[in-house]
Amino acid sequence: MKSIQEFYPLLSTPRQVVITTHQKPDADAMGSSLALRHFLVQLGHTVTIISPTNWADWVNWMPGVDKVMDYEKNKQAAEIILDKAEWLFCLDFNIFHRTKTMTEKLKQLSCIKILIDHHQEPDIVSFDYGISNTAKSSTCEIVYDLIIDSGNGEKITEEISECIYAGLVGDTGSFRFQSTHAGVHKIVADLKTRGLKHGNVHDNLFDNFLENRLRFVGHVLLHRMEVFYEYNTVLIAIPKSDIYKFQIKTGDTEGLVNFPQTIQGIKLVALVIDRDEERKWSFRSKGDFDCNTFARKYFEGGGHFNAAGGRSNDSLEKTVDHFKEVLKENSKLLQ
Ligand code: 5GP
Ligand code: MN
Repeated sequence: MKSIQEFYPLLSTPRQVVITTHQKPDADAMGSSLALRHFLVQLGHTVTIISPTNWADWVNWMPGVDKVMDYEKNKQAAEIILDKAEWLFCLDFNIFHRTKTMTEKLKQLSCIKILIDHHQEPDIVSFDYGISNTAKSSTCEIVYDLIIDSGNGEKITEEISECIYAGLVGDTGSFRFQSTHAGVHKIVADLKTRGLKHGNVHDNLFDNFLENRLRFVGHVLLHRMEVFYEYNTVLIAIPKSDIYKFQIKTGDTEGLVNFPQTIQGIKLVALVIDRDEERKWSFRSKGDFDCNTFARKYFEGGGHFNAAGGRSNDSLEKTVDHFKEVLKENSKLLQ
């Protein structure tokens, strides 16, 4: 994979471009994709964002989201666009299988593939150009760097500012995670100088749910949460019946994994949701417990040191039992 800097000279020639990101795109995935799109369009490129799946309603305020295609919903039309693409940007994921049903299609494409990401252990042989920097707080931070470093700072519009800020907020846990280095605050200062109304972004991201979601959170914390003080661990396991009862949609479970972290002394929080196609795990840790290694080793996943995800084809009961077993194995690391 050649460096992203080697790609900059190519930016001045208009191309057919597709931007894609991971399944169920969150604020960073969608924010970075949209920010890059708004930027590339100003340079004369023809750009389509294709999301592998649908996304949360609370992402729908982002400028330009109405033009994003959902591959699962519109496979045929999306594949025609993919076949014409000269460049494929892959944002906020580092291995094709994170795009679910799009995986095989993306692998087959012979166009130039560019990776922009901050997850650990990227599949760099699959990309022609790119940047994979785990020291970066978010993919939005890297897109900001790309715009500035390629000499295009004046092209940062209000739309781009909002999208980038949303990703920074999302992936830094509102500027609290270790990944929030000084440079992140410098970017925010720059975006503010350019006129960003940051309060609006927070409202749109966090105060934008329906009543059922809040009642669901209450129910889950009361009835589905187990605390294992001997392992400084909290587990939340959500059965399908809860999802139906509270009419939970994509994105409504976002942030749920953070609540147990407010309990004194908790090192690891694990959340598993019984989805139709798989059991989806989320892991969050504080301090020196490595979620990426844990998710990779036991749950076919990965991510970052303090935040990772995984999956299982087992039943909810079985994957929860497996989790409890591996907790014992990791007992020392969790003290
Ligand atoms: P979340 O728990 O919010 O779904 O994911 C936490 C972090 O881990 C995110 O950065 C996400 O991209 C990453 N992640 C989630 N699930 C997986 C997975 O199955 N594989 C890998 N490699 N990363 C994941
Ligand atoms: Mn991210």
